[in-house]
Amino acid sequence: MEAETAMAEQPGHRVKLRNGMDLSCVVCRNDSFHEREWQLNTAGMSFFNLDFLNRSAICYICAECRYIHWFNL
Ligand SMILES: [Zn+2]
Repeated sequence: MEAETAMAEQPGHRVKLRNGMDLSCVVCRNDSFHEREWQLNTAGMSFFNLDFLNRSAICYICAECRYIHWFNL
């Protein structure tokens, strides 16, 4: 994947979840993330057996530790 270089220049931002909570990193508690949308059916994701996410997922990558938090759209 070429995700790392693509998101490197962007500043992180805070993320509001659908339930009204602010997303905070489960690893380092940071609240600044890089956002990416993954088209799962075009990136060979069936390799990972993620067919249940049959269209796309939104991913928030922690600006500090790079942990990926991802959500089904
Ligand atoms: Zn983190």
